[in-house]
Amino acid sequence: MSAKVVNADVGATDVAVAATQPASSGFVAFDPGKTNLFDLDRVSLEDFFEQTLGEKRFRAHQVMKWIHHRYVTDFNDMTDLGKALRAKLEQHAQVRVPQVVFDKASTDGTHKWLLGMDPKNAIETVFIPDKGRGTLCVSSQVGCALNCQFCSTATQGFNRNLSTAEIIGQVWVAARHLGNVPHQQRKLTNVVMMGMGEPLANFDNVVRAMSIMRDDLGYGLANKRVTLSTAGMVPMIDKLGEVSDVSLAVSLHAANDELRSELVPLNKKYPIAQLMEACVRYALRKRGTSVTFEYTLMKGVNDQPQHARQLLRLLRQFDNAVQMKDAAKVNLIPFNPFPGTRYERPDDAAIRAFQKLLNDAGMIAPVRRTRGDDIDAACGQLKGQVMDRTRRQAEFRKKLESQGLGDAA
Ligand code: SAH
Repeated sequence: MSAKVVNADVGATDVAVAATQPASSGFVAFDPGKTNLFDLDRVSLEDFFEQTLGEKRFRAHQVMKWIHHRYVTDFNDMTDLGKALRAKLEQHAQVRVPQVVFDKASTDGTHKWLLGMDPKNAIETVFIPDKGRGTLCVSSQVGCALNCQFCSTATQGFNRNLSTAEIIGQVWVAARHLGNVPHQQRKLTNVVMMGMGEPLANFDNVVRAMSIMRDDLGYGLANKRVTLSTAGMVPMIDKLGEVSDVSLAVSLHAANDELRSELVPLNKKYPIAQLMEACVRYALRKRGTSVTFEYTLMKGVNDQPQHARQLLRLLRQFDNAVQMKDAAKVNLIPFNPFPGTRYERPDDAAIRAFQKLLNDAGMIAPVRRTRGDDIDAACGQLKGQVMDRTRRQAEFRKKLESQGLGDAA
């Protein structure tokens, strides 16, 4: 299936029309006078109860459980709250869940949602079940500003950051669909901030949302089961280290600056040496934890033996700097194609040869299985509906037209 189908299904009107939502979806219309409780983590919800509602702080805990454990969003159904409090909540607050524009199941069990965030913008969220675990791939921005050459999201341009509510709302929608009960019936065991967008470019909202994911009153995920993936925003990696204990993944894709700057333009600002130093600082702050380096393999671009050797050298330096064997983990991701891209997936023999070179040197380097590619849910294939402020969509369309692929995007 091509990405075209995704967009064809999503007219702006679909996103706008609340009436298309089934009554059970939890959808409520936007009310600017009310606080969306999805925006608040435990401390800010306690503050809200005390300062705005004039109530005891512990009431916040009851409400969090209703929302994140039982998926109840109507205050009237929160039966252990008194009638007066429920009325007060109704007056000042709402729980506004993202609108499910459509969702789709892959033959391999992967599930994708297209979620409307406002009348012009929609993003994608993907659930990937595997042996003994269920991972949700969450988006942090509508589109992405970074323009990594091999990523489909980049072709959509960028519009805006997602709010905390819009980020945690993705977890809520998936967890509810799965029948997830934190601490009892866990279907959702891991979250990776690897969907659309650069999470460190939306720092505060992402950090607050990750705190709800890890809170016992939220989704109860262990620190190491929440992973933030970055293209390498060096100062923000340090800032993350100061406030959070989540797992860090870094999209490396090349171990020399010339090639990396071509694939990930952000490398011109924060070259590899600076990036690796920030990763060392992150790992040293959290002794005993590793950093994952993602490496998307592209045929004839970064998949040759010399590239594997460069990668090995770089990651050995990293292990030495943090004085821990296997401090660096590698995740090899075979390139997932999308219409109009000039890159290709290497053949299996080349992928295996690259992996073997790393393994023979003692480095564990799993190849990430392609999941959900029949529904365009694989890495780098996520496309929502973006009101592009960067004009990149127009440029990309022009490029496609010149290739005779005009209707493919
Ligand atoms: N901006 C963040 C998170 C989003 S990308 C980051 O760059 O890490 C999540 C992962 O998918 C990254 O490692 C990214 O490089 C990879 N990816 C992007 N496009 C891909 C494609 N077409 N095929 C395979 N992996 C891709």
